[in-house]
Amino acid sequence: MKVLVINSGSSSLKYQLFDMKERQAIAKGLVERIGIPGSRLTHYPADREPYRVEREIQHHGMALEIIFDALTHAGHGVINNIKEIDAVGHRVVHGGEIFKGPVLVDDAAKEGIRRLAELAPLHNPANLLGIEACERLLPGIRQVAVFDTSFHHTIPPHAYMYGLPYRYYEEYGIRRYGFHGTSHKYVAQRAEALLSRPLQELKIISCHLGSGSSITAILGGCSIDTSMGFTPLEGLTMGTRSGDLDPAIITYLMEKDNLSPAQINKILNHMGGVLGVSGLSSDFRDLEKAAAEGNKRAKLAIDLFVHRVKKYIGAYAAELNGLDALIFTAGLGENSPEIRAAICQGLDYLYLWVNPEKNTVRGREADISTSGSRVRVLVIPTNEELMIASETMQLIN
Ligand code: AMP
Repeated sequence: MKVLVINSGSSSLKYQLFDMKERQAIAKGLVERIGIPGSRLTHYPADREPYRVEREIQHHGMALEIIFDALTHAGHGVINNIKEIDAVGHRVVHGGEIFKGPVLVDDAAKEGIRRLAELAPLHNPANLLGIEACERLLPGIRQVAVFDTSFHHTIPPHAYMYGLPYRYYEEYGIRRYGFHGTSHKYVAQRAEALLSRPLQELKIISCHLGSGSSITAILGGCSIDTSMGFTPLEGLTMGTRSGDLDPAIITYLMEKDNLSPAQINKILNHMGGVLGVSGLSSDFRDLEKAAAEGNKRAKLAIDLFVHRVKKYIGAYAAELNGLDALIFTAGLGENSPEIRAAICQGLDYLYLWVNPEKNTVRGREADISTSGSRVRVLVIPTNEELMIASETMQLIN
C-alpha cells in the first residue's frame, strides 16, 4: 500500500510517498515559492540523486502536477502511474473541538476545516488548498485529514481553560488547543516500543524542541496538558516566538510604542524568543557557538530557554504525579547533547540522571539515562509524516 503525505503551506508544499509495507518513504520533496517568482521543486527519490525543476508554479494544483510528474518520471520517479497511490494523508494544523482524530475528507470535513480558519488563518486555508487540489487531480483516491491538535483533545477542562470570562470560550472558542500533536503521539508510541512497557502504564513528558517548541504531559498514552495554547505562541521560549509572558506586557508595549495588533503580533512571533534575547540568531547552533566564544547574550538566551523547559518538566511531573520517561525530539532535542544535558541537570529530585557518554547521540533513537536513573531519558527522532501515513492507512482500512 502506498500513501502520499501532503503538508501544504501558503506558498510551499511538502510531500512524502510511503510504502506502508516497509513503513519507509520512497520519495520526498518540496515545492517552494508557489505563486512567487523563482518557484521550484526539489524531489528526493530514496535511492537516487535529487531532481530539481525550476519553473513558474502559479498555484497548488500546478505544484501537485509537477510533483506527480516527478513521482512517475522515467529517470527520477518511484512509481509507474499515479494510480498506484492508494490514499493521501493531509496534515491540517487546526482541528479545534470538532476533530478529535483523523477523518476522511468529505464536504462536511472541508467545511469544518474552513470554519476553523478563524483560529489558524495562516495554516488551515493553505491546508485546504492542498486538499482541494488533490481531490481535483486524484479523483476517486481517498483523502484523509490528520490534525495537529487532535492528540490533545484528551486534555481536561481545568487544564485547557484560561482564567477569562467564560463567554469568550463559548463565543470565540478561546481555550488551550495545543499543537505538534502528531509528533508527541509518535514519540510516545516509540517510547512504548523502546521501553517494552504498555503505553497505558507510562507517565511521559515529551519535549519537542525545534524552531517551534512544545512540551506535553502524557498519561497512559493520552495528552493531559501541553505548553502551546490557543495558538502556537504560548509556552516555551522558541526560536523567534516569545512563549509565556505577562499578558500586561502586550498592552503596555502597544501603548508605549503606539503599536498596532499586527505590529505586536510580529514582535511576539517573529522578533522574540532566543533571537530577540540574543540579538544574534534563532538557530541554537549559532547560539551555542557564540556562547562558547564568550557572547553573553547568546548564553543568556540558551539559559533562559533551558530554564523554561525545566520549569515545565517540574510542572508536568507534578501533574502526572511521577515520571517514567522524558523524551527529547525535533531538531534541537535530537541533535544537541549540550541542551539535553543542561535541561537534565538538577533533576535529582526525580531520580533522573543522564549518562554523558550515551548523551553524545545525535539524530537516532537512544536511551541516554544512567542505569541507576529511575526515569528513562530517551532521544527519539520524530516522524510526523510516517505517523500521518499510518493514521491514514488505519482509517481507510
Ligand atoms: P526543527 O524545527 O525541528 O527542524 O529544528 C530546527 C532547529 O533545531 C534549528 O533551528 C536549530 O536550532 C536546532 N538544531 C538542529 N540541529 C542542531 C544541532 N546539531 N545542534 C544544535 N541545534 C540544532
